[in-house]
Amino acid sequence: MHVTSLTHALCLHTGLPAFGRDGRDYFNEKEKQHMTDFESLELAQPILRAITDEGYTTPTPIQRDSIPTLLKGQDLLGIAQTGTGKTAAFALPMLHRLAHDITKALPRQPQALILAPTRELAVQIGDSIHGYAKHLGIRSTVVFGGASIRPQIQTMSRGVHILVATPGRLIDLMNQGHIRLDKVGIFVLDEADRMLDMGFIRDVKKIAAAVPKRRQTALFSATMPASVQGLAAGLLNNPTRVEVAPTSTTAEKVEQSVLFVPKDQKRALLGKLLNDRDIEKVLIFTRTKHGANRVAKHLDQMNINSDAIHGNKSQNARQKALKDFKSGRIRALVATDIAARGIDVDGVTHVINFDLPNEPESYVHRIGRTARAGATGIAISFCDHEERSYLRDIEKIIRQSVPVVQDHPYHSADIENFTGKIKKSRGNSGNGQARRGNNQPNQNRQKSRRPRRAA
Ligand code: AMP
Repeated sequence: MHVTSLTHALCLHTGLPAFGRDGRDYFNEKEKQHMTDFESLELAQPILRAITDEGYTTPTPIQRDSIPTLLKGQDLLGIAQTGTGKTAAFALPMLHRLAHDITKALPRQPQALILAPTRELAVQIGDSIHGYAKHLGIRSTVVFGGASIRPQIQTMSRGVHILVATPGRLIDLMNQGHIRLDKVGIFVLDEADRMLDMGFIRDVKKIAAAVPKRRQTALFSATMPASVQGLAAGLLNNPTRVEVAPTSTTAEKVEQSVLFVPKDQKRALLGKLLNDRDIEKVLIFTRTKHGANRVAKHLDQMNINSDAIHGNKSQNARQKALKDFKSGRIRALVATDIAARGIDVDGVTHVINFDLPNEPESYVHRIGRTARAGATGIAISFCDHEERSYLRDIEKIIRQSVPVVQDHPYHSADIENFTGKIKKSRGNSGNGQARRGNNQPNQNRQKSRRPRRAA
């Protein structure tokens, strides 16, 4: 299908959060008849009050399917990506179980551990837990690399019930004797596929070995490659398997289009697009950190409030950029894939793929940023000559062709009709290296198989 007018393509969205913060649109009509609300999940009253405060009225499918299993203390294998409500799916029953026989938080010995691959995701989970636990006397904290270790040590020595951690920093704190995992009764691994992609397998195994065998374990992953299946088999005990929203359904909720444009005209095209004030809150993806900086600089020159977020930025700079983007102080956030993992910002009206990702799954993750909790959104992708084959891979996994916008000043029919493959001269060539490569914080790629302690 071709969309011939850019204006038309950009106007396809109206009244964005038709879905708002209500889990309802995840259900089709038939399912609605069997819909459960949070009360019938039998969560403790202070938790129900907190989720009412959050504005949630209906559990999302991952919540509906996971919460009863986890409340019973059983293990769970959840196949779900960020944006489906999976954080509450594991956090609410965790809080319920901890609150049920609450004991004083012990110095350095958390009772529940959540492992997340990136600092952004860890902070996000920590914020969510803070909100869900606000009427309970349950203490939680987040530890992650790239930030001063001292306040983390101090908080741990005062004691928390729930610890959210990235693997590298957790191991450092364990090695230094500031954290012991021998009281952990609930263990959650979030985004296990990304954790392995980032090279954390050894750390994860080491951490799992330090957690008592008698425990409840939940593992969440957006995809289930053999490596994750192997990890799950080693960690989970007779788990209930819950699967929601296969990647293609996210793609279906997003109004997508692609603009064929020569590489050297991408910035001009971006400028032109951003003249449209309907693009209120836009996440712009680049493949590399330098690319992100260049785009942010260009936007600055155009007086468009923006910031960049990637692995070379300090933790503080990244948190500030996210906060400004959330509050609306900046209109555009330029990000690389790794930095964008776990970004949970409501009301992102548009995602612009300034560069197409060489991993098609990343495309689905990216465009999912504009369809949070079931809202619909718009994703616009730029595609140059070299990216033509990436687009074909993407269309294969989303099982649809992305509508083409020809009506823009930089349209290149040459690129549109190009059927070959251009090998990229440098950087990510799609040979697998990039998976552990360029966008990753503190990589030590060639020298060691072990990741440096970025997270
Ligand atoms: P997550 O997949 O956990 O990152 O959650 C994605 C977004 O959905 C977050 O903004 C949550 O606040 C929101 N959310 C989670 N559960 C619900 C629910 N039952 N109803 C509405 N929004 C929800």
